[in-house]
Amino acid sequence: MSMLPQLINMDTQHTEIVVTDILIIGSGIAGLRAALEASKCGKKVIILTKSRITDSNTYYAQGGITGLDPERVARGKDSYESLIQNTLAAGDGLCNKQVVDFFAHHSYEPIKFLIQQNVPFSKDADGWILHQEGGHEHERIYCVADYTGKAIEETLAGKVLQDKNIKVYEHFLTFTLITRRKLRKNPNLDDRCLGVYAIDRLNETVAAFKANAVILATGGAGRVFQYTSNPDNATGDGIAMAYYVGAKIANMEFFQFHPTVLYEPFGMQPNERRFLLTEALRGVSVGGILTTSPDSTEDFVLAYHPDGSHATRDKVSQAVDAEMKRSGLKHVYLNVTTRISGKTPEYIKEHFPQIYAHCLNKGIDITVQPIPVVPAAHYTCGGVLVDIRGRTSIPGLFAIGEVSCTGLMGANRLASNSLAEAALFGKVAADEAIKFSENKNTEDVPAWYTTGIISHADVATVNQIWDVARTTMMSLCGIDRTEERLRAAVGILDSLYDTINKIYWGYYPNDQIFETRNLVQAAKLIAKAALFRKESRGGHYRSDYPQKKPEYESMTLIQNGTEMKLVPVE
Ligand SMILES: Cc1cc2nc3c(=O)[nH]c(=O)nc-3n(C[C@H](O)[C@H](O)[C@H](O)COP(=O)(O)OP(=O)(O)OC[C@H]3O[C@@H](n4cnc5c(N)ncnc54)[C@H](O)[C@@H]3O)c2cc1C
Repeated sequence: MSMLPQLINMDTQHTEIVVTDILIIGSGIAGLRAALEASKCGKKVIILTKSRITDSNTYYAQGGITGLDPERVARGKDSYESLIQNTLAAGDGLCNKQVVDFFAHHSYEPIKFLIQQNVPFSKDADGWILHQEGGHEHERIYCVADYTGKAIEETLAGKVLQDKNIKVYEHFLTFTLITRRKLRKNPNLDDRCLGVYAIDRLNETVAAFKANAVILATGGAGRVFQYTSNPDNATGDGIAMAYYVGAKIANMEFFQFHPTVLYEPFGMQPNERRFLLTEALRGVSVGGILTTSPDSTEDFVLAYHPDGSHATRDKVSQAVDAEMKRSGLKHVYLNVTTRISGKTPEYIKEHFPQIYAHCLNKGIDITVQPIPVVPAAHYTCGGVLVDIRGRTSIPGLFAIGEVSCTGLMGANRLASNSLAEAALFGKVAADEAIKFSENKNTEDVPAWYTTGIISHADVATVNQIWDVARTTMMSLCGIDRTEERLRAAVGILDSLYDTINKIYWGYYPNDQIFETRNLVQAAKLIAKAALFRKESRGGHYRSDYPQKKPEYESMTLIQNGTEMKLVPVE
C-alpha cells in the first residue's frame, strides 16, 4: 500500500470467474491431503493458498504425528483405549467421545498414506522410531527427526504439483465465502456455499471461484497473539470468513500456549515467529525439565503439578507463566543436558538436528547449556464447528485441520494429535465433498465489483490496528485471564473492528486490510468466548475463576447475529 491515498477507477477490474468441482482453501497437510484424495476420484480440484504452497503451520511442526499401529495393539504394546483416555484427559471434559473413538481407531490411516507418499519417517534397526510425548502413555508419535512437518509438507506439495487434476493458485488470498443466502440477500433460502472471492496478491485483482463443494483448510489463528510459534499466515481467516456467512463457531476460548519457545530478547522483528522447542524434549523419551536458573536441577513445575515438566502443555504453560509473574523472571530454562536427561550429546544432535543447529546459531549449545524459554500462543483448539464427516453448518462448506472444531481436542489438544487429525479428516471431508459435489452448483456467481472512484487505505492506520489487536490479546486475553482484562479486551477489539470494517468497505481491496479484518474478528471471538466461560478448563485459565465448574461442561457456540451460548458436546 502507498502512504498517500491514491484515486483509482475500479469499473473495469475484477472480471475473472473460475469454475471447478472441488475448491480447497489452504495448502497445509489438511488441504493437500484432501486435494490428493479428491483428485484420485477424478475430480477437478483447485487449491487457493495465500503465499507459496509450503507456507503453513504444517511446515514448522517438529515433534511428530500420532499413529496407533494395529500391530502394536495386537502385540499389547499400546491400546486404542489408552489413546482415547489420553486424548480425553487433555480435552478436560469437552471432547466429543464419538470423534475421539473414531480418531483412535483410524489414526494409523494417515501414517500408512504418508508412508505410501514416501515421507521419510525416522527408523532405526528395530523399525520406526516412535516418541512418547507429554500426556501420551505410550510411544506412538512418528517423526522425521525434528522436522516432521517440513518433510510431510514438501512431500505432499510435490505430489500435488505433479497432479494433473489439481491446479494450485499461489498468492491468492481468499477473503469472502459466497453463499446463497448472502448473495441473494435472503436469510430464508436454503443455504449453500457457492464459491469464494480471492485477491491475487501479486496483481491486486480479485477473482471469483465457483465450485460444487468448498473445503476450508486455512489453519489456525496464532498470529492473533503478539507472541506466537505460528508463521505469518495463521491469521484466523477461515474462522472469520465462516463466521461472516453464519457458520457455527465453537470453543474459541481454548487456545493452547506452548510452554517452550526460545527466549530471544534481541534481534527479533516485532512480527517474527518464535522458535519452538518441541514437546518431545520434555517427554519421557528425552526427559528434559524446566528450571528457574541455569544451575538448578530442580523441576520447578512440580510445585504446580504432580507430573512436573511432563504434564500436559496447558498445565506447564500456566506454571511457567505463574512462576515468571511470581518471581519476576523474564524466562525460565529448559534443560536437556546429559546431567539432567542422561542422553548423550550425540543422541540429542541425531534426534533434534534442527533445534541443535538453530540454538547453536544463537550461541546456545543445548547439549551442555540450558535453553532460555518462554510460553507463546501455539494452537487454536476451537474453530468452525463440523460433524464427524467434516461438514460445517452450511451445506457445501467443509472444514478440516486447525480451522475446524471436530470435537477431538475439546478444551485442549493432546500433543501431536493435530497433524493426524488434519490428515485423517482431510480424507474424510474430501470423500464427503465428492459425494456432495454430485449435486451440481448451477447458480450464477457474479464477478467482484466495486464501481466508481475510490482510494487506497492509509497503511499507518491498518498497521496500528494490527499491532494493537495483537498486543491486546497477549496482555489481556493470554494465559492468565480475568473478568476485568477480558472486558477491556472486548471493548478495544470492538472499536478496532469498527474501524477496520469501515476501511474494508470503503477502500480499494487489499490483502493487508482483509487479513487485519479477519485477525481482529478472530480475536473478538476468542475474547468474547473467554469472557463468557467463567471457569478454568483446559487451555482456558481464569485466575478469578480458577476451578472447573460442572455447569460449563459444554461447548461455547456462536453464530453471526446471535448471542454466545453453551451447548452440550454431542
Ligand atoms: C512451530 C509449530 C510446531 C508444531 N508441531 C506439531 C507437532 O509436532 N505435531 C502436531 O501434530 N502438530 C504440531 N503443530 C500444529 C500443526 O502443525 C498444525 O495444527 C497443522 O499443521 C495444521 O494444518 P492445517 O493444514 O490445518 O493448517 P496449516 O498447515 O496452517 O495450513 C493452512 C494453509 O491455509 C493457507 N491460508 C490461510 N488463510 C488463507 C486464505 N485466506 N486464503 C488462502 N489461503 C489461506 C495458508 O497459507 C496455509 O497454506 C505445530 C505447529 C507449529 C506452529
